[in-house]
Amino acid sequence: MKDIFFQGRKIPLKIDYQPQKRSRLEIHQDYALASLCYDLTSKQQKEQLSILQEKLYQVSVKKVVQETLALLQHHAPRRIDKVRFKKMTSRWGSASANHSLNFNLDLAKLPLKVQQYIIIHEYSHLFEMNHSKAFWNTVSKFDPHYRENRRILRSLEKQFHQEKNLQPI
Ligand SMILES: [Zn+2]
Repeated sequence: MKDIFFQGRKIPLKIDYQPQKRSRLEIHQDYALASLCYDLTSKQQKEQLSILQEKLYQVSVKKVVQETLALLQHHAPRRIDKVRFKKMTSRWGSASANHSLNFNLDLAKLPLKVQQYIIIHEYSHLFEMNHSKAFWNTVSKFDPHYRENRRILRSLEKQFHQEKNLQPI
């Protein structure tokens, strides 16, 4: 059985073959269930699984980012013109001087508090466009446990890297 990373958990993926054309992916307590049409080729199955995972990640990341940004805006307002979500290979997120924030869809793989740390990190760049002491002070105001969350992030990055070939999609 293959696995899917979601919100800090590695969840076994079960596949249910059914006559309906429409594919679905649901996260249950101990497993993820993908419903796929039985007459797909294995290449089409792989494509469908990849699309389903991306949709799941998109919905999840958008929700967490929007909720976290709303909280941050409430405590320390900062202008944000654009928030984008996309697949990125080397970064979890980025912020630019023209008030836009970008987030990697793979954020959905991480535990919620680590996702929030990354969102806080990028939001803090709207105050300080560097990694100066002032920047980390801003981060620590929003997330007093940011060091711990960074440590978890670094160790998960290693794990994802090692398990890359084991990932289903
Ligand atoms: Zn940074």
